[in-house]
Amino acid sequence: MTSLLELRDATKVYSGGLFKRRATVALENNYISVSGEHPTILAIAGESGSGKTTMGMLMLGFIEPSSGQVLYKGQDLWQLPKPVWKEFRREVQAIFQDPFEVYNPFYKVDHVLTVPIRKFRLANTREQEHDLIEQALTSVGLRPDETLGRYPHQLSGGQRQRITVARALLLDPKVIIADEPVSMIDASLRATVLKSLRSLRDDVGISILYITHDLATAYHISDEIVVLYQGGVAEAGSVEAVIQEPKHPYTQLLVASIPWPDPKRRWGQDAVLTQGDVFHLETQGCKFAPRCARAMDICRQSRPPLFQTEPSRAVTCYLYQDSPVLEPSEIGRVLGQNGRRAEQAQGATPAPGVPQVGLPG
Ligand code: SF4
Repeated sequence: MTSLLELRDATKVYSGGLFKRRATVALENNYISVSGEHPTILAIAGESGSGKTTMGMLMLGFIEPSSGQVLYKGQDLWQLPKPVWKEFRREVQAIFQDPFEVYNPFYKVDHVLTVPIRKFRLANTREQEHDLIEQALTSVGLRPDETLGRYPHQLSGGQRQRITVARALLLDPKVIIADEPVSMIDASLRATVLKSLRSLRDDVGISILYITHDLATAYHISDEIVVLYQGGVAEAGSVEAVIQEPKHPYTQLLVASIPWPDPKRRWGQDAVLTQGDVFHLETQGCKFAPRCARAMDICRQSRPPLFQTEPSRAVTCYLYQDSPVLEPSEIGRVLGQNGRRAEQAQGATPAPGVPQVGLPG
């Protein structure tokens, strides 16, 4: 079965320094696929510098891979004929971190909703246009009479972000790539936006790539999770398994830092990259070895492959070298198993100890 959107052996290298001789690997040999037929929420989690935003930008076609491919319905995104590119632009939508950024403060919020309708000629009359807007707003839990005709500053961050979700919905997308969609919203309003995203999967059948540094929200709305470390997969599997019983030492560090009684403390704060950790192409061994308390000799000599520790779980760590090696290209199959299972398992009870974000409904 062809995926709707897929990274195939995708690497992104940014060049820098004098004569561009210093290369930093943002993403390395990644394989991720998103199905258009089995709606799933896949969290891409990692700290700053993990490559998660680069992954989203590649899948949105905003940047080109240095090697490998981004495929849309099996075709190279950068070789698409114009009509198919237009279809891609419609079927793959983005929601970004800053809900204020998409708004022009001089226009009423109606403007961000009418632009895509007119650009993609979704309505023939003003009446149809209005109906479409009302439907989209209602589907994300907003009341049109309380929303339309207002300026962006007259709405809360949560309302503004839900309007951007409504805007994406107008185009009847198959996939939404949401990059830190709630990180700039007040904690009290996050639940409403997360609920809107979850209902896109459940009620509208849209797959979501949820890019986040926040493991707690990933836990609450995702089916699967891929934890990235310096451009590579550290661990992948069902979100319950990975967060309740993390196997990779890096994921264990992240999960251990989840409870934050101090609101100023961010998840992953203990694991911030230092200059010495920045990964370059020539680095040997496990990328996490300089920080790993369980590092062995082999860890510094060669790069660990993905080990399949369970039917739907993979970990890039020599601690699991007794498990079968999983080809990187097979990670989509591992996650796909979870996706199908997640369709039956929605509503599973969160594990004790995992922070609640108070999702209503
Ligand atoms: Fe630590 Fe070795 Fe596993 Fe890397 S491969 S995370 S260094 S134990």
